[in-house]
Amino acid sequence: MPDIINLLPENIANQIAAGEVVQRPASVVKELLENSVDAGATHITLIVKEGGKSLIQITDNGKGMSETDARMCFERHATSKIKTADDLFTISTKGFRGEALAAISSVAQVELKTKTPEATAGTLVAIEGGTFVLQEPCSCGNGTSFSVKNLFFNVPARRNFLKDDAVELRHIIDEFERVAMAHCDISFKLISNGNEIYNVLSGSLLQRILGLMGSTLKDKVVAVNEDTPNISINGYVGTPASAKKKRGLQYLFVNNRFIKNPYIEHAIKNAYFQLIPDGDYPAYFLFLTVLPKTIDVNIHPTKTEIKFEDEKTVYAIVKTSVKRALGKNNLAPSIDFEQDPSLEFAYSKTQTATQTPRIEYNPSYNPFKEGAASNKNSDWKTLYEGYINNAPQTPTQEPLFELPKTEVLFDKIFQLQNKYIVTLTTDGLLLIDQQRAHERILYEYYKKSKQQPVHSQQELFPQTVELSSHDAMLIQELSDDLKLLGFDIAPFGKDTVVIQGTPVDLSSLNSVEVLNGLLENYKLNNLDVKLDRHENICRALAQNTSIKYGKELHTDEMKLLVEHLFACEEFSFSPHGKIIYSQISQSDIDKLFKRN
Ligand code: ADP
Ligand code: MG
Repeated sequence: MPDIINLLPENIANQIAAGEVVQRPASVVKELLENSVDAGATHITLIVKEGGKSLIQITDNGKGMSETDARMCFERHATSKIKTADDLFTISTKGFRGEALAAISSVAQVELKTKTPEATAGTLVAIEGGTFVLQEPCSCGNGTSFSVKNLFFNVPARRNFLKDDAVELRHIIDEFERVAMAHCDISFKLISNGNEIYNVLSGSLLQRILGLMGSTLKDKVVAVNEDTPNISINGYVGTPASAKKKRGLQYLFVNNRFIKNPYIEHAIKNAYFQLIPDGDYPAYFLFLTVLPKTIDVNIHPTKTEIKFEDEKTVYAIVKTSVKRALGKNNLAPSIDFEQDPSLEFAYSKTQTATQTPRIEYNPSYNPFKEGAASNKNSDWKTLYEGYINNAPQTPTQEPLFELPKTEVLFDKIFQLQNKYIVTLTTDGLLLIDQQRAHERILYEYYKKSKQQPVHSQQELFPQTVELSSHDAMLIQELSDDLKLLGFDIAPFGKDTVVIQGTPVDLSSLNSVEVLNGLLENYKLNNLDVKLDRHENICRALAQNTSIKYGKELHTDEMKLLVEHLFACEEFSFSPHGKIIYSQISQSDIDKLFKRN
């Protein structure tokens, strides 16, 4: 039998490969927009005609191409973005496969005009159906302009598969929105059949979202900002009340690339558990940033699907972040992180770009103490406001969704059921859970003991405590941390210890009870999740020594508690993830009196 295998001519191979990358005009739009972004453009204009079937033209002010590159870029596997296989693991550009231009130019009439800032003249290259037509100098501004005419003119079967102009335009708009949303520092314009559809200027992410999706969204989203060592999450999610029966406003980006990932989408949805009806879809515009080497973007030709190395952790972190965002804005009635496998994460705020609150924290403050209320001439009325104005925020985003700017009116402060502190604000009411608030204050104070050990107060009558052998071992294990926290505990025979000193602020409490309670809580915390030892002991001690429900507080004690709460790094949740305060605004109150 004669040999029958041939190598396909280059342009036919490209046409076949084009099937994967270029399905419709919108695919061309995506590839060209991404190339402009990769080229460092700050202004990108997209012009389409007849749903992109007759014309797609993209003009950018990016770095442009040299004369040789202008010809080279249409070759298959021609890319400036990676050089070795190793580069695949550190990709930070949108493209890297070097396929798009080869594919597009094999199924359309393409004209490229490009100029680098150094060059005196630009270069024009024309290619039709994969066949080189001409290359010549031209006059053009710095940057690149691709015009793609008559897509699939040489593949009638595929041209016939295209839908109505309106449908193709919808697909184009989808791609345009995704790229534009991921790059709020770039200005984008979209013109279809001579009509300007979008013209969004560079600005904040929120401005970009509102610019693309409509400004009515403004009151319907809350900010999400979390940083953990391996992943950070930024963006906005819809309030539960704004969830829709239909899909629509779901945008997930990983390293600024629009991604479809049912697993992560499920995590987001799950954060709304019991907040929205089953089958409703919350809006979200979320940006995950991960180390490039922990994801594989190369599993799909259009790169809209990726694989995470550690999907489970990403799931937990996404869910917790969204829950926290909703909780912080009082949109979730109560959040119980104890049930959550990502508990550890929920408290690890180490990497968050927080600013130190303006209010000075007095570490030796203890509201139990006589005279604790003698106040260090602060201006009560503005304390809360002062904090709000300095509230943590990421530098790139506007604080639009921070707590409403409100002033606490400290002259109107009282206790409800010896459980809640109620104060008037300029915009309504603020209710604070006294036990959770104090637990948070103490927890943050104890956490600092690593850098700043708590002073120990020697006991006048050292007490001996008999322990189970398990607890005696535990005390030994914890002795370093206990010392930092101001406990002076010495062994006293088998399974017995003597308490010679206690943390200075706790001297009014029964030291034996404190120690036993501490051990109990420590063990209980350990059942839930494995916490870091210091973290656990601080939590356990805060839990154990905080003022409890039923404790009557003086006005000055309440004021101090509120002051210290809002001086905390995190003041919305107790160390166990419970909501500390709730606001009732004037309009909430008005609503109570409205008849429908
Ligand atoms: P990839 O984006 O995967 O590298 P493409 O086929 O999309 O492959 O582009 C090939 C090359 O052409 C790019 O690597 C880049 O060097 C160059 N290029 C494409 N578009 C532009 C542009 N708008 N500005 C400057 N260079 C571009
Ligand atoms: Mg590309």
